[in-house]
Amino acid sequence: MIPMVDLKRQYHNLKKEIDAAIGDVLEETRFILGPNVSALEEEVAAYHDLPYAVGVANGTDALLLALRACGIEAGDEVITTTFTFIATAEVIALLKAMPVFVDICPDTYNMDCSKIAEKITAKTKAIIPVHLFGHPADMQPIMEIAAKFNLKVIEDCAQAFGAKYNGAKVGTIGDVGCFSFFPSKNLAGYGDGGMIITKNEEIAQKIKILRNHGSGKRYYHQEIGYNSRLDEIQAAIIRVKLRQIDQFNESRRQNAAAYCAAITGKDIILPVVASGCEHVYHQFTVRAKNRDVLADALQKKDIASAVYYPVPLHQQEVFLKSGNIPVQLPQSERCAQEVLSLPMFPELNREEIRLIADVINHVS
Ligand SMILES: *Cc1c(COP(=O)(O)O)cnc(C)c1O
Repeated sequence: MIPMVDLKRQYHNLKKEIDAAIGDVLEETRFILGPNVSALEEEVAAYHDLPYAVGVANGTDALLLALRACGIEAGDEVITTTFTFIATAEVIALLKAMPVFVDICPDTYNMDCSKIAEKITAKTKAIIPVHLFGHPADMQPIMEIAAKFNLKVIEDCAQAFGAKYNGAKVGTIGDVGCFSFFPSKNLAGYGDGGMIITKNEEIAQKIKILRNHGSGKRYYHQEIGYNSRLDEIQAAIIRVKLRQIDQFNESRRQNAAAYCAAITGKDIILPVVASGCEHVYHQFTVRAKNRDVLADALQKKDIASAVYYPVPLHQQEVFLKSGNIPVQLPQSERCAQEVLSLPMFPELNREEIRLIADVINHVS
């Protein structure tokens, strides 16, 4: 059995340090906004060379609180990609703002920046680019459009901790970067967790207040906020893994290179890396017309695969019935039919990659 992600292998490699870190939290008994949350915030800020990082309960809340801190309100429009996890657009709708979906470039699966300007109206307030599968979105044109129309840019970095665009780490280019520490992400806890990073002091302060019931000073409330704090035990676990994140991402890149060398089927489209980008392969996603045949062949050999994502957001029932105008975004619709993500994690070994490639080469 080869799973999409094998969290047990990583745990066994780090068991001593992680068990000790959890044990320390239990002895310390400062469970809410304790010393590990503050330390992780400092370490993640330093990793990105930014002044502020604020831990929150999960990646979805990171996006939600970032939108609120950027002043997004009911009736505003926020432009984002249609080819992403629901959370990216869900948070826009939760604030009674309108997600406006843009098609993707089929090579990187990220937002096609040449399609953004035509979506801008007087109501547009922000853009949420997603660094999908660990490949940075094309941030330069996004930042140019944002500057021209005075829009906020909130980077959804949930799948891309440590990825780089023209030398800059993702999350440091827009106004806010949002991370998820969901167990299967590149940097992850053993439960839910999230974080925002920013160079903007006002945004950081606002998110600190929002995550703690709208309160800056205990029992004095200036906003309607949330209970959305990063858990102390998760922070302790993530701190252990943060020390190795660059090696984990490098192992993923090496695994991706091994896949690319081993997969020879001429009908398989392999992932590409745009110039100036450093990919962190949260997913290793190929494209094939006979995607379902490939998935079946892999399953017969006890090899997992997954379709991220079978339905682009502009076609999701929830958005169609909540007033989004039906549009055709043909690149994303085609990719949804053809993409297949293969097992990818730092500890995946060469023998497994060869086995997976063999199955694919036989079918294609
Ligand atoms: C995982 C993910 C999120 C949400 O993160 P959670 O921690 O699960 O709330 C948001 N956006 C993208 C692109 C994701 O992959």
